[in-house]
Amino acid sequence: MKGRLKLMSVFLLICLGVVMLSGVSGAQEKTELQLKIKADSIVLQWNGSKKESYHIYKRTGKGKFAVIDTVKGKKYTDTDVKSGETYSYCIKLKGNKKIKSEHKEALYLASPVMKKPAVSGSGITLKWKGVPGAEDYVIYRRESGVKAKRLGRTDNTTFFDNTAQTGKNYTYTVKGAKGKTVGAVSKVTVGRLSSPALHSLKRSADGLLLSWDRVETAEEYLIYRKKYGSAKWKKAGTVDASQLSFEDKKAASGVKYSYFVKAVSGNSISVYEGKNLSAVCLKAPADFSLKKDGKKITLSWKKTEGAEKYQVYKKTGNGKWKKLRETKKLTCTDTLKNTKARVTYKVRAVAVKTKGAFSLELKNSRVDPSKPMVALTYDDGPHPVNTHRILDTLEKHGARATFFVVGSRISEYSDCVERQGKLGCEVANHSFSHDTLSVISEKKVIEEIEKTDALIKKYSGQTPVLCRAPGGSVGKAAKLLDRPFIHWSVDTLDWQSRSSSKVVSHIKKTVRDGSIILMHDLYGSTAEASEIIIPWLISQGYQLVTVSEMLEAKGINVEGGKIYYNGYA
Ligand code: ZN
Repeated sequence: MKGRLKLMSVFLLICLGVVMLSGVSGAQEKTELQLKIKADSIVLQWNGSKKESYHIYKRTGKGKFAVIDTVKGKKYTDTDVKSGETYSYCIKLKGNKKIKSEHKEALYLASPVMKKPAVSGSGITLKWKGVPGAEDYVIYRRESGVKAKRLGRTDNTTFFDNTAQTGKNYTYTVKGAKGKTVGAVSKVTVGRLSSPALHSLKRSADGLLLSWDRVETAEEYLIYRKKYGSAKWKKAGTVDASQLSFEDKKAASGVKYSYFVKAVSGNSISVYEGKNLSAVCLKAPADFSLKKDGKKITLSWKKTEGAEKYQVYKKTGNGKWKKLRETKKLTCTDTLKNTKARVTYKVRAVAVKTKGAFSLELKNSRVDPSKPMVALTYDDGPHPVNTHRILDTLEKHGARATFFVVGSRISEYSDCVERQGKLGCEVANHSFSHDTLSVISEKKVIEEIEKTDALIKKYSGQTPVLCRAPGGSVGKAAKLLDRPFIHWSVDTLDWQSRSSSKVVSHIKKTVRDGSIILMHDLYGSTAEASEIIIPWLISQGYQLVTVSEMLEAKGINVEGGKIYYNGYA
């Protein structure tokens, strides 16, 4: 009996325990846990509450579970992960550990570290570092506007895409994999850009100048060079997308080179398609110099490698370039008509069938920068009588002035403008119809200047550089026209007084070295004043020069869009 009772009580206790256990298990809440594999972490997410704290349990491989952190909310990022390891996680509510999730297990495969893709004539080769734990790799390709496409699965750490087309950009994704598990993703965008079309290869003074056509989306260009006939291309330089030319100053004179260009945008690059340009480099003779002894000019230069002989060219005034001499020597002499003759020289090297680039130009300057000078300027002409009277006076005294002519008057009095050119005077732009530039439309401003430029060029042979705005009102024209604007430092008010004596006395009182003097060649009184003031200025030691000559002699750097008032150094 005692034995049965004992057995009974054991049975009852068990029953009670089962009842109690089932009661507890009824109160337990299942918490859903999800694991996500990221590039450098595993992210845990569960349906928890922001107000509650949770213990995070983790197990590596077949080890033991341990709490790695306690956090509030419903998300945890575990960065302490190693590629190729298997991790298990579960979470438990702080304060009531019976509220917990199931175990979740994940194999962590890091994202493959991509190497620079190689773009070739036949396709694109992707390369990456092996991911620990991965058995093979899955590769996808996406091009803009097209659905991602699975290209394949490989156990190599390289993949060759032979279906990539020229002129397209592709985004490739690569993931490590083991069985059904795939790891974190790596992305790389790469493409085969179109090759830049080569435009020209010209000899420049310092080397060879290569130019090409723009490639849409290119961020920079790589220039490749080789000695003509050799097999090895070498990179000669890099320029950004804003430039479409490259001057190879490292090219050696006397040597023939070939060039081609690659366009680059990010990882995308164009490939050599067999088209190149070749030319012999023949540099301009270095250290070109001019020495003057009275009327005798001696030019000299240094030897250019690869040159057989040299051609010296000469230009008189605004005339055309003419060949002065061909010589094997490194020097050449010339005799001037007079010491102030306006002549310019340049020289180039010549080899068999090859003409080198010209050197810089040297001038027999008519201006002595060490002596004082002024620039007389005459506006609003030409005038059939008074302009010629002023030109007579200038010619008589070997002096020059600057004429700011009005375009609408040029055709009728073109003989004045022709003569201004012949006498070495400067012919400059004073608009076509003498409208105020700051008031008229932008389109009209450009029209006014361009029409007048063409007429000046036609009759004087000069390409006008300087502008004077009617009434001195430049306004928006400064930004619109890349031209220097010339104001004045001495205002004779000749148009107002119409008195030669007032003009003469005003100039005598105010003139100084570097003055720009404002007059108008429409008036007889101004022509008369010129007959007095020109010889007087010369007697005072002033050289009468053009505005451009004065600014150059004074070392003033003339820039477009700026206003100049004088030539004070
Ligand atoms: Zn004017």
